[in-house]
Amino acid sequence: SIRVRFAPSPTGMFHVGGARSALFNWVMAKQSGGTLVLRIEDTDASRNSPEWTEGIIRALAWLGMDGGEYEGPYFQSANADKHAEAAATLREQGRAYYCDCTREQIVERTGDSHMGYDGFCRDRGLEPGPGRALRFRTPDEGETVVVDLLRGKPVFKNSALEDFVVARANGSVTFLLANTVDDMSQGITHVVRGEEHLSNAPKQQLLWDALGGTPPVWAHVPVIVNEKRQKLSKRRDKVALEDYRDEGYLAEAMRNYLMLLGWAPSGDREIVPWDVIVDEFHIDDVNASPAFFDVKKLRAINGDYIRMLPVEKFVAACLPFLERTPFEVDMAVFDQLAPLAQTRVAVLSEIEQMIDFAFLPEPPFDEQSWKKAMKEPAAQILADTAEAYRDAPWKADELKERLEAVGAAHGLKLGKTQAPVRVAVTGRTVGLPLFESLEILGRERTLERIAAAHA
Ligand code: GLU
Repeated sequence: SIRVRFAPSPTGMFHVGGARSALFNWVMAKQSGGTLVLRIEDTDASRNSPEWTEGIIRALAWLGMDGGEYEGPYFQSANADKHAEAAATLREQGRAYYCDCTREQIVERTGDSHMGYDGFCRDRGLEPGPGRALRFRTPDEGETVVVDLLRGKPVFKNSALEDFVVARANGSVTFLLANTVDDMSQGITHVVRGEEHLSNAPKQQLLWDALGGTPPVWAHVPVIVNEKRQKLSKRRDKVALEDYRDEGYLAEAMRNYLMLLGWAPSGDREIVPWDVIVDEFHIDDVNASPAFFDVKKLRAINGDYIRMLPVEKFVAACLPFLERTPFEVDMAVFDQLAPLAQTRVAVLSEIEQMIDFAFLPEPPFDEQSWKKAMKEPAAQILADTAEAYRDAPWKADELKERLEAVGAAHGLKLGKTQAPVRVAVTGRTVGLPLFESLEILGRERTLERIAAAHA
């Protein structure tokens, strides 16, 4: 059965791209009864930190991959002996040689800083020593064919593959070797990872061959781009999975959306239950062209997921956001507002400005809303509404009917009549369904706010 792995480097916040790779691997393992291995590639001691490793594990758990869903975590650093052994084997077999060229010397000789290594030390027979790196001798002839489930069989001319470094002068092995040795020793059959590693695949495949393994099947999943078609980057774009969580995206929505980055379920659907995704996903159906990270679409999907929650779950999901509000939330009141809010929020962090009117002593003041809604004949509408509401039975239906009557007297539709009332009471032109909100707020506070607005 298949063995796949997710092999992040713990060098920063866990990225949505990493999350997508993890999900693709997870689903592949699940649907075939195979195994997902989690391998933390922690060999770059200068850049990694346990904090990032914890962040990865926490984020995976949030997406549904708790410790029972994968084998590991293994740490690349724990495999150092095997890496060193592999480097020694390559050297003994004449597949690798020592090289003391500096970057400057290479550039000077080739006259081109983009050219790879020119093979200067290939036949010098250098012994190991200070300042000497170990380079893999790539074949001069022939081709390396990478079997990639998304890209057919890309062919790489061996003569175009430079003799790459497998162990640095300080003895540490490079990504290319460590990653290959780990995949070999962990019995990985399929490597699913980001497109940025495609150019590493032929080099790694040569290492597999040299070390006596059967190379894996590869799948390099497409780069993720923003609305300007630029590769998603942590400087430009919001990429940290935990930032999305903190903004109030639900894990179920997030993982559904992440699966759509390069793949589409059947029937033109976007919202797909997880078990259907696990059933339908095929790595070979993933499109190789760049995947657009469409935050608007993600928001819409998240809103739909919010609406699918049972209301108690929605309330529970709101709790962390209610703790952060600058006002005290009376949960008895919130329980009444929750079903209304659930119909309107796209991300949970929006909850605060949906409900603040009910908890603040005075409505919040949004200048734009005020300007927009308080135009003629707003003052008259407010005065008439106050009159109509004074002795109205305090029920949403009734309040709506009475406001409709006020509007009719001015020749206005409900939408227009409603606007000044909404702003007077809630401070904003958009918000929860109005009449239900008024019902919850109560007669006294509603009339007080209407009076204050047209005073
Ligand atoms: N640690 C590498 C990365 O995060 C792993 C690449 C791979 O999956 O082979 O980019």
